[in-house]
Amino acid sequence: MEIIERVGEVRSRLAEIRRAGRPIAFVPTMGAFHEGHIELMRRAKAGRGAALFGAEPPCLVVSIFVNPTQFGPGEDYRSYPRDMQGDLEKAREAGADLIFTPSVEEMYPTGDCATIEVGRLAEGMCGSHRPGHFRGMATVVCKLFNIIQPDAAYFGEKDYQQLKIIQRMVEDLRMPVKIVPFHTVREPDGLAMSSRNAYLSVEERQAAAFLYKGLKAAETLFEKGERSSAALIEEAKRVIAAEPSLRLQYIELRNADTLQPLQTVTGKAVLALAAHIGKARLIDNIILRVS
Ligand code: AMP
Repeated sequence: MEIIERVGEVRSRLAEIRRAGRPIAFVPTMGAFHEGHIELMRRAKAGRGAALFGAEPPCLVVSIFVNPTQFGPGEDYRSYPRDMQGDLEKAREAGADLIFTPSVEEMYPTGDCATIEVGRLAEGMCGSHRPGHFRGMATVVCKLFNIIQPDAAYFGEKDYQQLKIIQRMVEDLRMPVKIVPFHTVREPDGLAMSSRNAYLSVEERQAAAFLYKGLKAAETLFEKGERSSAALIEEAKRVIAAEPSLRLQYIELRNADTLQPLQTVTGKAVLALAAHIGKARLIDNIILRVS
């Protein structure tokens, strides 16, 4: 496994790999790996979902970069968990061929004048509570795509709004990369794995499982035939309220593709939430489908 910090070096190394006819699969991350990241990397290495099957497995490139422009003032940029040595070992075991670990100066040599504006998809949900977050995220992913030039890039559905924005950016800007979504990997009690779970005390960690319990309660009601967004949201809130340490920031039901708000669930919808607990802000979602 190669570890490269400079843009010029990663470009020339990947040009060689491309010339040898090997497809490139890419997993962008902010590090502090958990099993969700690892499974995402294994999936990318297998080339599944991206028609990257060939004589050889794809070259798996993983970037580790805590991107300052997607954190707002007062957010956890400085305290975000970092574990480079542990991450390198885990990525190696998951089959990564090349780790790209640029510095902030390497990614933003002249500041950040040119940016990606993501429009309506960035309004509502996390976009309402983290102004500028999705601009920073889309901009850094665009830069990484320009540097790595992957054939396929893998993104978790846990960050659902992020996934939709990236899919739309690639489509609208005609970027030649296939975006492959990946299911949310969870702890045994249902809590979505997240690097930020490391902020939780033992009590907070137990309480955090009620976020998924709330989503599942809404899903159960949905499966019984309830289609009103207000009723489904109320049901999730009722269950989450059992844990007073959980402070819901939002819970919304939206069309799963356009992310427009829904009064009534039709087609494919996403029930998404964010909550504060202790020092952590956690997000989660489930998909509801009318068949
Ligand atoms: P992050 O390091 O948090 O920016 O995440 C890097 C990638 O891993 C993103 O595409 C995330 O959506 C994905 N990811 C994070 N947590 C999970 C999880 N629990 N299950 C699956 N994918 C995840």
